[in-house]
Amino acid sequence: MSRPELPAAGGCRSAPVLKERGQREVFCGLTGIVWLHRKMQDAFFLVVGSRTCAHLLQSAAGVMIFAEPRFGTAILEEADLAGMADAQDELDREVERLLSRRPDIRQLFLVGSCPSEVIKLDLSKAAERLSARHAPRVRVLNYSGSGIETTFTEGEDACLAAMVPVLPETQERELLVVGALPDVVEDQMLSLLSGLGIGPVRLLPARNIDAETAVGPNTAYALAQPFLGETHEALARRGARHIPAPFPYGEEGTTAWLAAIATEFGVSPERFAEVTEAPRARARKAVAAAAETLAGKSLFFFPDSQMEIPLARFLSRECGMEPLEVAQPYIRDALHGPDLDLLPQGPRIAEGQDVDRQLDRARADRPDLTVCGLGLANPLEAEGLATKWAIELVFTPVHFYEQAGDLAALFARPIRRKQALRLEAA
Ligand code: SF4
Repeated sequence: MSRPELPAAGGCRSAPVLKERGQREVFCGLTGIVWLHRKMQDAFFLVVGSRTCAHLLQSAAGVMIFAEPRFGTAILEEADLAGMADAQDELDREVERLLSRRPDIRQLFLVGSCPSEVIKLDLSKAAERLSARHAPRVRVLNYSGSGIETTFTEGEDACLAAMVPVLPETQERELLVVGALPDVVEDQMLSLLSGLGIGPVRLLPARNIDAETAVGPNTAYALAQPFLGETHEALARRGARHIPAPFPYGEEGTTAWLAAIATEFGVSPERFAEVTEAPRARARKAVAAAAETLAGKSLFFFPDSQMEIPLARFLSRECGMEPLEVAQPYIRDALHGPDLDLLPQGPRIAEGQDVDRQLDRARADRPDLTVCGLGLANPLEAEGLATKWAIELVFTPVHFYEQAGDLAALFARPIRRKQALRLEAA
């Protein structure tokens, strides 16, 4: 077999979208620092925020930091918040202290928070001033991780979008893969692309600033994460060209993602088949094991990670689940259209949230599995619904062939647990 033959499923791309703009139950954009600081090994994330932000980061990281950490919080005290102290001067002093102690830091991100936005602290000015002072040794950029208007994956999007304008210019024909992936997953992807003869391949974010990519009109880029809308627009402004594709979850998604890139780079169908056939077979087998639990079960997505549409596609087509509602914080046709094309018709597609109305719909639907944020999971479990925390999906390796079985198993676990509890109670 050559390229994947993806049957037209009478997809959801032109389905009506229920747009909701009410109260939302989402996690804050600072969360992205937890995976970004592991990925970018010469970066430091300095949150300009309150003690609440510091506590959130520490508990989201889930570990005590014994080595030199790569994130921290410049705490805005009451005097800063009341405008009694010059927060810009304080910030400069904090950055001086940090950089003189830590010569390993090559990129510093000033991360805005709710408190810094409330007092309108201009972090872009601070980043410009500090960059001029510390160049070329350290590059200082800023972005917002504030929870006022964001979902938790938007932190990564804002961080990468802030990097795009300062990437050097190139005329080279290159593939750029965008989105932070765990190193082990990234290595698998690079090995598949190299097997296909595609290169040079650049990454955003790179593991360190010296390995960083350049970008230009001959750059073709593929998104590895579905929540990178701002980064996508920033790259388009630099003249790079997007390769639209379903996201690489599951055997089918991975194959379609690779096939879109292979077409762009003129890989022959024979070579494509040679490289992908064995991992495809392994992935199908691994997914089939978990699919025994998932097949025929109904599914309800609250909007949280922005991975909902591609996951619904994977769970319905490869695992036999029946999505009842697929809600995502934002739906962008350029990014999510290819997955919507493949999502079989039937579920309500919703964008944004009005949490009480959505809870009413979930209670009426009584799905076998509900994917939602931490704040909703406990109350829904108490009402007898099995839940999966959306945030786990970004902390677990889930992309590409070798993780396809693990991805399906993540959803099978809560259903099996519920079945076991029922048996015990009987
Ligand atoms: Fe809370 Fe806002 Fe700080 Fe996030 S940025 S921890 S939502 S105060």
